Amino acid sequence: MEKCSKCGKKSVYSAQHGPLCESHFLRYFEKKVLNTIKNFKLINSKDVVAIAVSGGKDSTIALDIVAKYCEKRRIKFFAITVNEGIKKYREQTIKDIKKFCKEKKIELKEVSYKKEFGMELDKMIPLAKKKGWDKTPCSICGVLRRSLLNKYAKKWGATKLVTGHNADDEAQSILMNLYKANKDQFVRLGPATGISRKEFVQRIKPLYFCLEKEVELYTKLKKYSVQLKSCPYSSESFRNYVKKNLWKMEKDYPGTTTSILQTYLHILPTLKKEFMETSTPKKLRKCKLC
Ligand code: SF4
Repeated sequence: MEKCSKCGKKSVYSAQHGPLCESHFLRYFEKKVLNTIKNFKLINSKDVVAIAVSGGKDSTIALDIVAKYCEKRRIKFFAITVNEGIKKYREQTIKDIKKFCKEKKIELKEVSYKKEFGMELDKMIPLAKKKGWDKTPCSICGVLRRSLLNKYAKKWGATKLVTGHNADDEAQSILMNLYKANKDQFVRLGPATGISRKEFVQRIKPLYFCLEKEVELYTKLKKYSVQLKSCPYSSESFRNYVKKNLWKMEKDYPGTTTSILQTYLHILPTLKKEFMETSTPKKLRKCKLC
């Protein structure tokens, strides 16, 4: 077993700069998150921060670290969770997150598809199929989730919306938008998303540089009680396909995920400038029914 490059204790993780023991890994991980917040100016003292939580590992870590960050600086924050209505999956994650927030004394607000749209996701999917919509569950759910999070974060006064996206998620999003030629979405990635519009709360991703394997190890070492199984609909998504391929690339060519992020961040300012100069902002249309 390798020894920690900092203190000589038994190592639990092999970072790029050398092996790390448990306590140095935890410090390395937290420092990475705090540096992302600092270097990309994700949160300022006047912000009201909404932290989106699903009860999964990524968002629980983001909640824990960002809540501590805000508490220390007296920045207002709250957690927000969406109950999509996914049987044998979401009930448990909501239970976990409620328990976590109670223990940490964090205010948790809950919104649901049932209340907002009149039915659960489990009922929407067969209905969409019956109507002949050629959409995967995630493409329906993703839009509804994002819109609900934005709507309620805004309604409850948030100026920033934290999501638990990690480095692997982001690299997948970059590739997905590239493969599908989604130019509009492609320029909106990065640690702080969105070209500011008053209708939207800016989304920020403090775990941007944390690899999935680091998130998994941090979760294990911190003994979070979180759901490790994936959403039953996720296997049908294009993301899942890209994820599997990226994992294979990362295994065969270590460092691929980080290289994708670094290249993307390097070209992003040029892309944004070009995008602003050549595209006319789309007019946002309101739903005719609500
Ligand atoms: Fe919704 Fe897809 Fe996420 Fe499941 S994996 S919660 S269906 S977006």
